[in-house]
Amino acid sequence: MSASPLAPGWLVPPADPNALAPAVWPEGAHRDESGVVAIGGVGATALAERFGTPVMVLDEGVARARAARTRTAFESAAARHGTGVRIYYAGKAFLSVEVARWMRQEGLRIDVSTLGELEVALAADVPAALLGFHGNNKSVTEIERAVEVGVGSIIIDSEIEVERLAAVAARQGRTQRVLIRVNTGVHAETHDFLATAHEDQKFGFSLGQAPHIVARVREADHLELEGLHCHIGSQIFGTDGFRESAARLLQVVAQIGGDVPVLNLGGGFGIAYTSADRATPIEELADGILDVVAAECAARGIPLPVVAFEPGRSIIGPAGVTLYEVGTVKDVTVDTEQGTANRRYVSVDGGMSDNPRPALYDAQYSARIASRASSDAPELVRVVGKHCESGDIVVDAEYLPADVAPGDLVAVAATGAYCHALSSNYNHVPRPPVVAVRDGAARVIVRGESIADLLARDAGLAPSRGDE
Ligand SMILES: *Cc1c(COP(=O)(O)O)cnc(C)c1O
Repeated sequence: MSASPLAPGWLVPPADPNALAPAVWPEGAHRDESGVVAIGGVGATALAERFGTPVMVLDEGVARARAARTRTAFESAAARHGTGVRIYYAGKAFLSVEVARWMRQEGLRIDVSTLGELEVALAADVPAALLGFHGNNKSVTEIERAVEVGVGSIIIDSEIEVERLAAVAARQGRTQRVLIRVNTGVHAETHDFLATAHEDQKFGFSLGQAPHIVARVREADHLELEGLHCHIGSQIFGTDGFRESAARLLQVVAQIGGDVPVLNLGGGFGIAYTSADRATPIEELADGILDVVAAECAARGIPLPVVAFEPGRSIIGPAGVTLYEVGTVKDVTVDTEQGTANRRYVSVDGGMSDNPRPALYDAQYSARIASRASSDAPELVRVVGKHCESGDIVVDAEYLPADVAPGDLVAVAATGAYCHALSSNYNHVPRPPVVAVRDGAARVIVRGESIADLLARDAGLAPSRGDE
């Protein structure tokens, strides 16, 4: 089949529009004998019948396996150089009590950045000592709670915070371990390793400022300097950005005397959202980054620190699939330079309220009909949501079987990270439930909202109504 003139260059018409590309769909996802897509051994039609649509499905086995593989990869790479690692799961990608438990059971620590995320991790019985707390504007309440429960590391992001945190720790008679966030000027997603040290963004201290902040922390009575931190962005492929950033951070470590127990290099490992994406294997990342850390330490004559990482998306993203039901299908004639072309709009029963990433970041996704296989030829479609916004796109460009029709279930791959986490009630659409699947069984891990839940928060209702 020839490509539609409306298809982006990277999107190749598939030989079979039923096929589930293994790099994009959760490991083990397949079509059963009747053509229904099964995730974690549970069929899409059974999930839709039981939980309704839209529904976000998380494959527990895949999430756990990715967490374990990440930990093993970094532990092995670090052990080769004679040091250790800490792997923090970045909770902001997707956090619930159940997911926090999975991560803990797979040997990961957890990163939080607000009081809400902290309370979820604590509710999951993750020991506070295994938590890291980030954020450029942590409130005094957040800092007090973090210090009181014994959060392992707090990542300092401003000079004001040095004083604020020291005062809280002093009042509580505790010593708080801290890392200092450094902006290394590396932005790997843009492949633009900035030369300037004066960068126009909100996080961290410049390479030039960092030694001064280190001195402030070392002078503070109730703070203990545990290390330096950086995070170069998200959805990054390859090792170059991480290696460059690590080298720049180690230059600061050398400047401040070399005695830094922990070097935290953040998260940001990219995943495949479409068959055009090639995710870098985690082992390659681990080896490549640890090699440069070891080489830089050797060259500068400084002891090798424990190295920490904070992956979110790469652990939970590929474990998620969102199921929607098709409501309408409509052909739209579009003018192109070669004449007119047809774009088939497939409208589903969710959209930017459960996945704002296409609207926010022009993010691309992959979709398949999940409730049946079809022998029809591939047709270029745009999967859109039900919101009152023309930018309400779910999958900008995909080839689905041409007979896609109302009542079909459409599955969108790789929605585990930053979809539920960024979801909203736009247009008063209730947020869908999150269902964990594993070994043929399904269970709700985050309850979906009902219209009654939405009305319950509306204080304009008469109290008698609101209490119902
Ligand atoms: C967002 C974030 C992460 C996680 O990024 P991913 O791309 O999900 O791996 C880790 N550390 C910090 C400080 C972050 O802000």
